[in-house]
Amino acid sequence: MKVIRLRVGRLSGVEIEALRFGLELLLPQSALAGAAVAIEAVAPRLRCRACGVESEVKEPPFRCPACGSAEVELAAGREMQVESVDIAERDEE
Ligand SMILES: [Zn+2]
Repeated sequence: MKVIRLRVGRLSGVEIEALRFGLELLLPQSALAGAAVAIEAVAPRLRCRACGVESEVKEPPFRCPACGSAEVELAAGREMQVESVDIAERDEE
């Protein structure tokens, strides 16, 4: 079974349903025809520059939940990456 796994950050600006729709439109005409598309939405994660704590956040404003500092950077949530493309023709078992 062919499977394409994608990771899409919730802050990437990519609309997951639109992405899925586009892929389903394009895949049948490609070498990946018949492949299943698995899209994982990645929650935003902050890394605090003040205390070093990493935490998941839902939405802005982004502040460190541990110490309240606004000196934070985004450790995850903006990615748009292909995690794996499994195009093995043989069955796994
Ligand atoms: Zn902190």
